[in-house]
Amino acid sequence: MYFHGTSKVNAKGHLEIGGIDTVELAKKFGTPLYVYDVALIRERAKGFKLTFENLKVPAQVAYASKAFSTIAMVQLAEEEGLSLDVVSGGELYTALAADFPRERIHFHGNNKSREELEMALKHEIGCIVVDNFYELELLNSICEEMKMSTKILLRVTPGIEAHTHDYILTGQADSKFGFDLQNGQAEDALKKALTFEKIDVLGLHCHIGSQIFETTGFILAAKKLFEKLHEWKEAFSYESKVLNLGGGFGIRYTAEDEPLPAAQYVAEIIEEVKRLAEHYSMAMPEIWIEPGRSLVGDAGTTLYKIGSRKEVPDVRQYVAVDGGMSDNIRPALYQAKYEAVLANRALEKADETVSIAGKCCESGDMLIWDLPLPKSDSDDLLAVFCTGAYGYAMANNYNRLPRPAVVFVENGEAKLVVRRETYEDLIRMDISLKQKINN
Ligand SMILES: *Cc1c(COP(=O)(O)O)cnc(C)c1O
Repeated sequence: MYFHGTSKVNAKGHLEIGGIDTVELAKKFGTPLYVYDVALIRERAKGFKLTFENLKVPAQVAYASKAFSTIAMVQLAEEEGLSLDVVSGGELYTALAADFPRERIHFHGNNKSREELEMALKHEIGCIVVDNFYELELLNSICEEMKMSTKILLRVTPGIEAHTHDYILTGQADSKFGFDLQNGQAEDALKKALTFEKIDVLGLHCHIGSQIFETTGFILAAKKLFEKLHEWKEAFSYESKVLNLGGGFGIRYTAEDEPLPAAQYVAEIIEEVKRLAEHYSMAMPEIWIEPGRSLVGDAGTTLYKIGSRKEVPDVRQYVAVDGGMSDNIRPALYQAKYEAVLANRALEKADETVSIAGKCCESGDMLIWDLPLPKSDSDDLLAVFCTGAYGYAMANNYNRLPRPAVVFVENGEAKLVVRRETYEDLIRMDISLKQKINN
């Protein structure tokens, strides 16, 4: 079994994370429970930051907070000197509530509302990543109304799509995001933006996909961006101060995944950008990257209590846990694969193959197919690894399951950072037909 970060098996044969026995965590905080290995998040953040520093390249490493947006996580990102991506008013609100430095907040999204743009301007955040012509015009008019200026990046689609192990080069990139680089939209957007007095175009942004295991795609994207930037410099003396190459760095969910260390992604990308800048005699831009999954993904483990079991003779053993697609929708949504162990019997050899079912009323609510495990009993504890990204972030109340609690563990201490929802929380927004409400 592959253990991430500080995860290991202790003398009792229990899974331990951050110096704490997970059996104790489950007892104290209940299940399902998201447990985050804070030391591993710090290590991942430093891995990206230090590589830029060692190579002496001005950079911003922005945590894509959509992967796991909570006040505590935003505060941890600040402690590690990261910048922060938000993609909605709600994520921005969370960042502001955590008192995150506003100048290091970047606002993404393909359909930001007027209210969201006003909120971003009012709080003077660092940068708005403009996605389309509608937004560009709207942002400009709001800037005029509010008499405020803002920095922007233009999100472009370079015509490269990363499909984990291969890249599709598309002439006309079929994406809901960004200005197309090939068909002239990006150039039109830049020309327009440059006429807007209150808008300062820092540069270009692209994000080519997610769970990417090679640097090829980033390098192809950098090439495409530089070709255009060179044209624009020649044509109208525009020079990009910032090149944002997005996120999408892959992590190891199962043995099938072979990610590169952060240092390697970053070093190879920087090398290429340096080479391109030299080739085109252009100034080296500041490089921004936006890791989400690769900062928090493998730092998260979900603890579940095992309950019922159903045998379909000669076909399959279903073992059900006290959560499911409500706390981890990724298997149902993307056929995502995970590894897991019995946290209270972590040294025991697997002697059966089971499939882990959730408790939602949906046949598709399966967490793991064909998992080798020791023969489990009800009340055993199942630990599913690598649930730190897009787990809690996508958690929902399907079947009115309360969303689980989240704890941070580090150096033998556990800190509750999101409390478990209660049944009362579930009906907090409901309005009874028998209740008279004013307004
Ligand atoms: C989702 C997203 C990211 C983060 O992607 P990961 O795969 O979690 O690293 C970064 N930038 C943008 C624009 C995104 O949409």
